[in-house]
Amino acid sequence: MNKFDIQEHAEEMEQTEPITDDPTTRKDIIPIEKKCFLCGQYTVKFFEKDLIEKLKTREKPIQTICPDLSKEDREFLITGMCDKCQKEMF
Ligand SMILES: [Zn+2]
Repeated sequence: MNKFDIQEHAEEMEQTEPITDDPTTRKDIIPIEKKCFLCGQYTVKFFEKDLIEKLKTREKPIQTICPDLSKEDREFLITGMCDKCQKEMF
């Protein structure tokens, strides 16, 4: 491999964007912070921005807007109850 080849390879590496599911790096994912009314702990969960906007309008029940969301996440969005308290309650 000569010098030129190495340079070309380096350029290719820069152009490749890392694919990541890290919610903090995604623009369409926003953090939602809520205080659990049972234990008083603050919990932060990440949700799609579109989803939160739809929920704000309250036109449809949450089950209709996001049927794929876990029971825990739905409960969190509605009441703010953390996963730990939900496990103890249900
Ligand atoms: Zn709690």
